[in-house]
Amino acid sequence: MSKINTVLGPVAPAELGAVAIHEHIGYGMPGSELDTTWWKSPEERYTETIPKLRAFHDYGGGTFVDATGICNGRDVDYYQSLSEKTGVHIVAATGFVGGDTALPHFARASVDYITEVFVHEITEEIGHTGAKAGVIKVGVSRGGRMTELDKKIYRAGARAGATTGVSILTHLAIDPEPALAIFAEEGMPLDKVLFGHADDGVNAPLTPDTRILGAGARLGFDTFGYETELPDPPFWARPRQERLDHFLRLSEEGWFDRLLVSADANCSPLGWPGVKGHTVNYIFEQLLPDLKSAGVDDDSLHRLLVDNPAAFLTIAN
Ligand SMILES: [Zn+2]
Repeated sequence: MSKINTVLGPVAPAELGAVAIHEHIGYGMPGSELDTTWWKSPEERYTETIPKLRAFHDYGGGTFVDATGICNGRDVDYYQSLSEKTGVHIVAATGFVGGDTALPHFARASVDYITEVFVHEITEEIGHTGAKAGVIKVGVSRGGRMTELDKKIYRAGARAGATTGVSILTHLAIDPEPALAIFAEEGMPLDKVLFGHADDGVNAPLTPDTRILGAGARLGFDTFGYETELPDPPFWARPRQERLDHFLRLSEEGWFDRLLVSADANCSPLGWPGVKGHTVNYIFEQLLPDLKSAGVDDDSLHRLLVDNPAAFLTIAN
């Protein structure tokens, strides 16, 4: 049976509805949980998060993919209760945002060990939650080039993905050649790899987008809403029209069905204040109206938010 792993169990592709492919319930740098400045009670986290997920559901959102890695605040019990309360499917990730957020226990481990961790989380369960991971996260460390540790994690991710049929999301799409080589060596189908953050203000100019698409991978326009127009924009912000034009240009060149969109927002940030005025619901409040006014028809929007993410997330094999 075709299925996707969510935190409450497997669901059929047709049940996903509209998908936010790269989001965070709460994202923080490893160690920030030890800084009491930022502690939040469970009630505070719920209060910040539930209304955003309810609004997402009311807008027609069906599935929220949490792209938070193992060391960045992933909390699967909590995701299960959020999903039960709101009716939103939540997909949890195994993997790491990047080599530079993998704590020493994992950073020093072998490729085999890391592969086993990923495969266990996908095929057995994450801890004792009963939940299986539905995607694998890998990424490029700060600095613009893949480090040896990044490559080790990509290789483990590729082995786990090729073995289990689960897809890979990447943090950043810069320096893609080592990644493409590893995926080829490990037999990871590129149709099941989404190179992420190809659209943000810092990385878009450095990302060889058509090279990645031409190789057969998918490309993530997943930081929609981090705009220079925000009152206090983050360093990776980009002018709204410029990002939209980039998306439309690739679409016109024939890549529309290889592109996936999201907002990379945090419902309740951990260890940092987050970016005010930005939520997952940017997808419905701004992006969809912008795409419609640019002439993208309803059938295409359905493919963008429903069909293509479902094809990407469905476990192969
Ligand atoms: Zn993210």
